[in-house]
Amino acid sequence: MKLEFQEYQPRKIVNVHKHVDGPWFWTKYSAHPYVGCRSGCEFCYLRGGHYLGKRDPDSFDALIQVKTNAIERLRLELGKLEPDVISCGDWQQPAEDRYGLSRQMLEVVLEMGFPLFIVERSPLLTRDLDLLQAINAKSWVGVVISISNVDPTLKHAFEPRSPGIRRRLETMQVLAEAGILVGTSLMPIIPFAGDSQKHLEDTIIATKDHGGKFVLGGGLSMSGVQAERSFAAAAQIDPALEQGWRTLYKSDSDKPNYGPPRSYTASLGRRVRDLCHKHDVMDRMPRYIPDTPLGINKRIAEHLFLKTYERELAEASNFRVWAYRKAAWTVDELPQSIADLYAKEGLAGIEALPDVGGKVAQEIVTQLEISRA
Ligand code: SF4
Repeated sequence: MKLEFQEYQPRKIVNVHKHVDGPWFWTKYSAHPYVGCRSGCEFCYLRGGHYLGKRDPDSFDALIQVKTNAIERLRLELGKLEPDVISCGDWQQPAEDRYGLSRQMLEVVLEMGFPLFIVERSPLLTRDLDLLQAINAKSWVGVVISISNVDPTLKHAFEPRSPGIRRRLETMQVLAEAGILVGTSLMPIIPFAGDSQKHLEDTIIATKDHGGKFVLGGGLSMSGVQAERSFAAAAQIDPALEQGWRTLYKSDSDKPNYGPPRSYTASLGRRVRDLCHKHDVMDRMPRYIPDTPLGINKRIAEHLFLKTYERELAEASNFRVWAYRKAAWTVDELPQSIADLYAKEGLAGIEALPDVGGKVAQEIVTQLEISRA
């Protein structure tokens, strides 16, 4: 397939997220140098949604747009932001071989002192190990290597041009041996074809064997062109698989639900968690906690985000899930130390915070007392 590059200069490169995406990647910012991806995985969620803007979705893997002003924009925009975790770079080949923008972006992240998060399939990432180590020494680095499964048949069906699984695991090992926090993004877990105990456990064991500390399991989303491509790839394996998916996503036509039913997602999460525990691997990525007065807010918010996840896995009511999520956002974004607030105003001060109810306030106080002990 012919590959084209198109250079352009966007007016902005850093996306500032409304809320940190706990308890998943914990990122507040994101900045990426390329639009489109040569690997062209059938299930890639970037095919759908707003990522491509007005571009023809079928051009996703044939046209790579290159943000040639990425470095200047990143330096300028980070200079106006509070340091927090930024998801940065894209080591896809051949774009990164040709332009090297991700390496230069890491140089800016190091210079500006921001903690860094990377999600990646490409082994080219190890080229920049020196910079990753330097950023890790100065602030923090967390990396997730994307591995949907370790089954070659599924890899071939859904991501035929992406880097091989063995090379991704070798990348994980190199990072782990360099002292960098690394784990697996076990996403998307392919419904029915890739969600057996064996599929999940094989990936968790492979992660552990290569120095990974955690596995984040997540299901397959369905949106627009990405849904069409995913259904077609499933049909290639087995028409019954496609039909099973259409039932799972309640798709009589080509407009499926975005996700499977909550019961399926929660059960998958519980199974991943149990298998992670069995193999002494975490099922969440530990959060970066800054060594500043607001670090305690991040620690308490992390606890609340984890409670949110626990409730999702337990299929608790939406009300209970959102009670923790909203409280987590409040604490995470509080401009003053929650420990100072508690010292001055006690439980009443915590209860007066927006979206922090009595039970959650009490839980925050318990966590504050534990952190003081
Ligand atoms: S490698 Fe990642 S970004 Fe590229 S197509 Fe595959 S899933 Fe999408």
